Amino acid sequence: MKRMTDRQLRSAFNAAGLRLTRQRLLICRELAGRYDHPDVEHLYRAVKPRMRQMSLFTVYRTMNALESAGMAWRVATWKGHARYDGNVETHAHFLCEKCGRIDNVAAHDACREMASQAQKCVEGSVRRVEMMIVGECVACQTAAAGA
Ligand SMILES: [Zn+2]
Ligand SMILES: [Zn+2]
Repeated sequence: MKRMTDRQLRSAFNAAGLRLTRQRLLICRELAGRYDHPDVEHLYRAVKPRMRQMSLFTVYRTMNALESAGMAWRVATWKGHARYDGNVETHAHFLCEKCGRIDNVAAHDACREMASQAQKCVEGSVRRVEMMIVGECVACQTAAAGA
């Protein structure tokens, strides 16, 4: 993914009225290194051992700030939990309704076409187009077949 520089991060946080603290930087770096579209709980559990004073609330606030600054996507809500992506380049997602796994799908032609056509469908201005493919992942299909 496109790596966020410290400078970009600092201005994103300033825009959201927050300081870029060591805790928030750690959360950003964790998100940037993951491809599983974690929710806040998973991010919290991953960074907590490295920074004991980290709170769940800090992770929530950080993710909200990143999202409003356009530096993270809230890609889906699965079982009531928002799932985040640090990669904000155009790409689609495949969500498994059974296990909640969310995979990246490379932006193929149909996806790019949709993004470029979207502006013709609405009167307002388009910031981004999200494409979510929903189904059942191979692991869940295999498990179901074996049962
Ligand atoms: Zn699955
Ligand atoms: Zn993604």
